[in-house]
Amino acid sequence: MGGRDTDLVLLDANGIRCDGRKVDETRKVTIKVGVLKNANGSAYIEFGNNKILVGVFGPRDVHPKHLANTDTGIIRCRYHMSPFSVTERKNPAPSRREIEIGKVIKEALQPSLILDKFPRTTVDVFIEVLQADGGSRCAALAAASVALADAGIPMRDMVCACAAGKVADTIVLDINNEEDQAGQADMPVGYMPNLGKITLFQLDGVLTSDEYKKCLETAIVGCKQVYEIQKQAIQNKFFENGAD
Ligand code: ADP
Repeated sequence: MGGRDTDLVLLDANGIRCDGRKVDETRKVTIKVGVLKNANGSAYIEFGNNKILVGVFGPRDVHPKHLANTDTGIIRCRYHMSPFSVTERKNPAPSRREIEIGKVIKEALQPSLILDKFPRTTVDVFIEVLQADGGSRCAALAAASVALADAGIPMRDMVCACAAGKVADTIVLDINNEEDQAGQADMPVGYMPNLGKITLFQLDGVLTSDEYKKCLETAIVGCKQVYEIQKQAIQNKFFENGAD
């Protein structure tokens, strides 16, 4: 949570946010599946102004070999922001933030995957953020789960994701970059909607226990909306390819 921009009206008298949304409204989400020919699975997501491409490779041999597990396949995940993804040029070298996000996305995907049939192999997930506008880890996580499904990796459930937060003393769904910078709390959530299990939970900011509960419930409502778009995106690929 950054310093407050005094000119920015985060929530007006009619309950409308700085980008015109209501408090319980997500940004527009579109997902396209199977966009990379050379990947085993792929997805492109636009989550508001976030634009993120995910390629999945594997199960394939692990290099370096000492990382291989003889009992199960492993998953690795790289989250990378392109230098032009934010207003100031971003250094292309991996930052601490990118390493952290790669780790939390990997850990958020892991419980959804069934990798014990693929011992000694890895499933590699490459996330390229082309444009970031707040909430990129949730957008990336949702796209990565779709790309894994596109790659045919066995899974217990899809992982959907959406953040909620506190802006102008109000709990709002899916905070954007301006709200993230000037708001009071940001809570990204990853969720397996059929199993009802949370796989990613982070909180930046301070909430009372009532706000905390409301924020989590709000984020899960957003997750379920994203899930419907994920499912539709996968179905669209099969219909486009002429399958029934
Ligand atoms: P998330 O994107 O998951 O919300 P953060 O809360 O760390 O992750 O970042 C919020 C937003 O801040 C990002 O989506 C992006 O728009 C912006 N941002 C992140 N890193 C940089 C950077 N190096 N330079 C400029 N803006 C950045």
